Order: sequence, then C-alpha cells, then structure tokens
Amino acid sequence: MAEHTPMIKQYLTIKAHYKDAFLFFRLGDFYEMFFDDAKLAAQELEITLTSRGTGVDSERIPMCGVPYHAAEQYIQQLIEKGYKVALCEQTEDPKQAKGVVRREVVKLITPGTVMEGKIIQEKENNFIASVSDFHDETYGFALTDLTTGESFVTIIQGSWQEVINEIATSGAKEIILAPNHSEEKIRQLLQQINVTHSYEESDQLPEALLPLCEGLAQQKLLQTYGRLSSYLVRTQKRSLDHLQPVVYYTPTDFMRIDLHSKRNLELVETLRDKKKKGSLLWLLDKTVTAMGGRLLKQWLERPLIVKEHIEKRLSMVETLIEEFFQREELRESLKEVYDLERLAGKVAYGNVNARELIQLKRSLQQIPVIVSIVQQMNNNYGHDLVKDIDLCEDLFVLLQNSLKEDPPISIKEGGIILDGYHSQLDQYRDASRNGKSWIAELEQKEKQATGIKSLKIGYNKVFGYYIEVTRANLANLAEGRYERKQTLSNAERFITPELKEKEALILEAEEKIEQLEYELFIQIREQVKYYITKLQYVAKKLSEIDVLQSFAYVSEDNQYTKPEFNEDREISIIDGRHPVVEKVLASGEYVPNDVQMHQEREILLITGPNMAGKSTYMRQLALIAIMGQIGCYVPATKVRIPIFDQVFTRIGAADDLASGQSTFMVEMLETKNAISKATTNSLILLDEIGRGTSTYDGMALAQAIIEYIHEEVGAKTLFSTHYHELTVLDQELSALKNVHVSAVEENGKVVFLHKVVDGQADKSYGIYVAELAELPEKVISRAKTILASLENQPVISQVKEVDGPVQLSLFMDQSEAPKKQPKPSLDDDEKKVLTSLKKLDILNITPI
Ligand code: ADP
Repeated sequence: MAEHTPMIKQYLTIKAHYKDAFLFFRLGDFYEMFFDDAKLAAQELEITLTSRGTGVDSERIPMCGVPYHAAEQYIQQLIEKGYKVALCEQTEDPKQAKGVVRREVVKLITPGTVMEGKIIQEKENNFIASVSDFHDETYGFALTDLTTGESFVTIIQGSWQEVINEIATSGAKEIILAPNHSEEKIRQLLQQINVTHSYEESDQLPEALLPLCEGLAQQKLLQTYGRLSSYLVRTQKRSLDHLQPVVYYTPTDFMRIDLHSKRNLELVETLRDKKKKGSLLWLLDKTVTAMGGRLLKQWLERPLIVKEHIEKRLSMVETLIEEFFQREELRESLKEVYDLERLAGKVAYGNVNARELIQLKRSLQQIPVIVSIVQQMNNNYGHDLVKDIDLCEDLFVLLQNSLKEDPPISIKEGGIILDGYHSQLDQYRDASRNGKSWIAELEQKEKQATGIKSLKIGYNKVFGYYIEVTRANLANLAEGRYERKQTLSNAERFITPELKEKEALILEAEEKIEQLEYELFIQIREQVKYYITKLQYVAKKLSEIDVLQSFAYVSEDNQYTKPEFNEDREISIIDGRHPVVEKVLASGEYVPNDVQMHQEREILLITGPNMAGKSTYMRQLALIAIMGQIGCYVPATKVRIPIFDQVFTRIGAADDLASGQSTFMVEMLETKNAISKATTNSLILLDEIGRGTSTYDGMALAQAIIEYIHEEVGAKTLFSTHYHELTVLDQELSALKNVHVSAVEENGKVVFLHKVVDGQADKSYGIYVAELAELPEKVISRAKTILASLENQPVISQVKEVDGPVQLSLFMDQSEAPKKQPKPSLDDDEKKVLTSLKKLDILNITPI
C-alpha cells in the first residue's frame, strides 16, 4: 500500500469496507474501477480494460470506467447478474480540497434493494430476506420489499431445508446473514437457489423502526428483523418512511407445499424454461393492476387452510360472476389505478416526479368509483373490503388544483404548476407573458417604422432577444438606434436598450418561475408523504379486489365451479380437468376425469400405459385443491373436497439431474419428506416411485412405501406405477383401490382414451409406445415375442407379510420362482439392436 499514490490509497481504504461489491469510484466525469473489480467489470459489462501507472515502479494497475451520466445502465446490468455496487462520490468540492478530494460511499445498490430497472417486475415483489440461526432447530426469517414497503417475519421450526424452501417461496433476491453463519448451510442454500447473500453484524433494531414492530413480542423475531433493517439503514442511507408495519405470519397457517412440489406443479413458473407462461399463475392472472398481480402470486404461494377465510373469498368471486356488469365496470376502473404501493415507496424515497403524481391523481379519482361499485354489490365480504378505505379527497383536490395534466419528466424546468395555484407564481408568469406580448408589439412597431416587412424579433440562448434584418434591407435602418450584435450570411441581428431591458425582466421572471415551480412541487411532494400509510391501505384492498375479480373472470371464462369443502375427508370430483393442459389443448380435446376418494379409497394405485395421462390426473387433483384453497373456482362440474394442510408430490422431473444428486436419491429424499411429514389431512402424489433402480428393488420399495402410507400415515395418496404386480395389493390393503387410464387397441395400434376408470390396467402397452416412436420393426416384433413368453411365466407374487428389512428373496415364493428359461438365441442384427437399446440414456430422451 505504501507505494501507491494517495488516491489509490484512498480507493483501497474504502474498498476494504466493500469487499463483496463493485466499487464505483468517482473521478471527475467517470466512475472508475481498479484491480480485480476492473477485470471482472470489463468482462461482465464488455467494456475496455485499461491500466494506469502506480507512480512508483513500472507496475500498472488494471482499470476501467464508465461515464457517470451513463452509469445507471451499467449498474442495472451488474445488479441483474446478482452483483452489488457501491457508489463512491466526491463529497467535497475539488477546488477546495487540500490533497486528495474526500470521497465516500453514498449508496450500496444490491439485487434486494434496487428501486428501479428491469429487475423490478411489475407483478412481482422484490424481496430482501434475512435468516437468523438460533442453533436449536429454530430459525428466524424476515422479508422486506423496499419498493412496496411490505415486511413479514416468522419463526421456522425444523430443518435448514425448510428455511431454504421458505426463501425459495418468497423469491427473495438477496439474503442477509450473520457474519458467522455456517458455511455449509450457505453452500446448501446457494446450490438450490440463485440468491445474492450479504452479511450484517448488527441485529439491533434501529430506533426509528421500532414503531413498525409493535406486536412482535418475541426476541427472536425482533433480532431477525433487526438484522434486516440494520442492513437497510446502513447501506441505503435514505428515508425508509414508507416501510409498513411488520406482519407476523406462521407458515403452518397456510397450506404447505414444499419447494419441489411447487416446481413440479408449475404453480408460478414452468419446469422446463422457468417462464410464467404455461404456469397456473399465468392462467389465473387476469389482474389489471400491478399490485393485484403481486398479491395473486403471494396467494398462490400460500393457499389458505381456514374454511371461513376461503369461503369469504369464494363468496365474493361468486358475486363478481353473478354481477357481470358491475364486474366489468370494476375492471375498467381498476385499470386506471397506478401502482400505489410502489408510488408510496418513491414518495418516501423522494424521487417521484410530477408525471407520477398525475398518475396518483388519476388513481385517486377511481377510488370513490370502485368503493361505490363494491358497496352496491350484494356481498358482505366485499363491503368489509371497502369499509375503511379513506378516499383521500384532500389529496386529490391538492393534486387537481396544483398540477398540470401533462407535466415534463424533469421537475426543474417548470411547466408543472397550474395557473391560479400560487399568486406569486401567477405574477411572475404575468410578467413573463406581458414582456413577451410587449416584444410581439415591438415587432409590429419596428416593421412600421422601418418599412421592412421581413424584420423579425427572435431569441437565442447566447444573445437573448434580437431584431433581425436581412442584408438587403439594412439601408432602411435609422442610424444610431440599433446596436449590431451578430452577423449571419444574409442578415444582421441588432439589439436596442429598451429590448434588453424587457429581456432582463422576462428572463428574470422565467428563472423565478422555474425556481418557484420546483419549490412548490417539492412542497406538494412533502404533503403527499402524509398520505403514504393511507395509500398503502387502499393499495392492499384494491389489490385484493383485483385478484378476486381476476378469479371471477377466469372462472367464468373457463367454466369452473365453486368447490364445497367438507370435514369428512371425502373427495368427490366430477369431470375434473387439469386447468393448464386443458387450456393448451384444442377445445373439447381434454377428457375430464372423476376422482372419488373416501375412507375406503384413501390410496389410488394408478396403472396405465406411458403417455396415457397418469401424471396429468395426479396433478389435476393437486391443482384443484390449491385453486380451491386460494379462493378460486375449480375446473370440474362438481367438487366436494376436504381442506388439505399439505401437498407433497414426487413427480419425475428432469431438473433433478442438474442439481447433481442422483435422480433416485432425490426421489427417496422427497418420498421420505412426504411420508414423514404428511398427516391424515395431507395429499401425496407419488409418480412411478422406484423407477430409478432395478426392478425388484424398485418394486419392493414401492410396495413398502404404499404399505407404510396405508398403515402409518393415512394421507390421501395417488400412486402411479408401471409395476402391474403391485395391483394385487388391493386384496391386502383395505383402503387401496386400483384405477387405470384406459387405452384401446384398434387394428393393432393403441389409442389413449385418457379416461381414468376403476380396476387395473391389463397391459402396459410399452411396446405400442415403442411402435409409436417408430423403433425398427424387428425390435418391435422381437419384443412382442419375448413379452409373450414372459407373460407365461409367473415372475413375482404378492408378499403376504413383510417383517424386518426387505430382502429380495422375500418377493419370491421359491416354489413359484421363474424356471430358468432357455435363453432365446439372437442373430447379429438383434444383438446390435439390443446393444444400442442398452446404450440408450433413458433419462435424457423425451417420451416421443
Ligand atoms: P403419463 O403420466 O401417463 O405418462 P401424462 O399425464 O404425462 O402421461 O400425459 C401425457 C399427455 O397426454 C399429456 O401431455 C397430455 O397432452 C395428454 N393428456 C393427458 N391427460 C389427458 C386428458 N385427460 N385429456 C386429454 N389429453 C390428456
């Protein structure tokens, strides 16, 4: 360090405090980066890497920079990639500085704290989270969205994996940890989700934020939110006035759906390309405000489990469906409502402009309309929603009387404030207008006096007002009266003392106008601050109304039905559909299916050919349950269903391969998770469990798992399998029933009917799928021959009793063990085909 120039020393001193961020070091008109920051930034931002001398020896320091006026876009790019940027400004006037100019970091910008740019999605929260590990299997978890001001806290009891699930659910972009947080746990976290992590020493709640935490009695909660808010205060160095009171929630107050199940069921994004399009959220989202869009996502992440709460939502959806015209009016009004929550954030932050306040005004104009529509609807819950809404009429009047309809983005150039709002401003404007009309009159007078028709008075920034006369007319000007100011190619420009006098008045007035308009605007903006809390409340209620109208819209559009919830653990779904699959198929192509489950049908064992629709059937049930529990109608003609506390799914998915664990291990871990946590009120979907290992192994496990669920868990379970041998289990397990997806053979070809009916499938049709895939004819006919000979062999029989560790031999009644078959002899072609079949990477090819 000793060898460096004083400026580089200053850089290194500051950088030491921001090791995990790019330090944007202000040098004149540039932000410069040095050393490793420079190398990485040059790469990430595709800008040129240069270097500068150290001043001492020949060693050069890598360096790159971006112009300060274009910095915004570069910062955004880095943030989107998950990096942090520390903005270091010159905090004293370079002219006054003795030695190196003083510099300080004025703001740390991180993925969890940005307020603008592409990373901020209209219909998504931008959460920053913190986790405290109390080392007793309890964790504190807190979330804040700086753009909307919302905060939530909870205690998670259980494993670190559950914390990871909760972080993933929230979609947090950044997570704040204590400096001594276990590295192993951080590694596990980062392996599963893409999140920026940061550290904060203090878990002391900043004094100013105390009022937000009234009602949070537990020390653990305060510490967790304390760490998060300390980080925000330390790094943001700006007003956090818009932060809303912290909401305590309990994960067990909602239906619990673990991370894998959420992904598998494609609730908010699709499995394959992680896009919203094609997910349940995409289907349900007919919200017309950004706030409504965000709330819908929150609801979908946390379905309700209290019947009353669900039914309130459902009743409002019903009313909104019945009162179609009011709903349409409501939609139209809501469309005019701007993002009030984020606007409140900007007001607090102090960067709202006049255009945004006009949007606020237009939103406020709609509030009475919306409130009155809802009041007139025949629904108590609707009435509750609008009951305490403050119409903020004073604010509306203020904005209506003060702001022009179409103001510029800049707040420093005038053109914002209406005439009649402020008398001093009106006077300046009069002065300016009078001056201008005086000049217009002067032009007429001068034309007459000189007889020059083309004479004109103009204005430019350098010379101010001038009289312009073409060269040909110069002779007509009276001597001595005009002072020459500028010569153009074919004209001359002059000024006169009286013109300059007026000019001074006009310019002075205009300068004062701009200054005063700016001041008035700032005052108005300050006044808006008093309404932040009220606006946030309105935002909450309007977003709920928006989500409910969206449910009504979608339900009507797709002919969904209102679900009925019962306490007798009975499922009766008539003509159920998978909402998304139905949507992507041509109309009428989807084959609806019933689901009947009750005391004698707790477990359905589903068999049927590949591609017949087994997993669609299973997902359909889960989606109907989830849609119902968020308060939406469901895709079926009649539904009676219990309220599920948890949904577990193990549905084979290619994405597991990416995470490094073997598919089979993941399968077992998820199965363990399901059978150890499920209650009699849970729903378990297990798709082809055991497929990932050898046949006997897999079948043994599948059977043992089914028996365990039947005896120990008692959750409603759908279990699909291609082990037809398992279908005999219905003889032993009283609450297990076989169902199958039917298919028929027509002219030796298989046709899938996608219809789920009672009983077991009689064939696996695997060979027919192979035929569909156009495997060589020789393989197909050979496979048919082998199948025929195998089918004549009793391979396996049901195990009557399984005690102790499962062993393969238990599966074979020795007397029935397959007789050694004379090995069918293969010709060369057949051998080749078999070899290539063996080489097939089954996990990486598509069914087609
Ligand atoms: P499986 O799990 O039995 O292999 P899937 O559930 O993945 O089969 O279904 C395969 C395809 O069949 C789906 O992608 C869908 O296009 C179609 N399908 C499934 N169920 C139905 C249905 N009820 N009606 C119409 N098409 C269906």
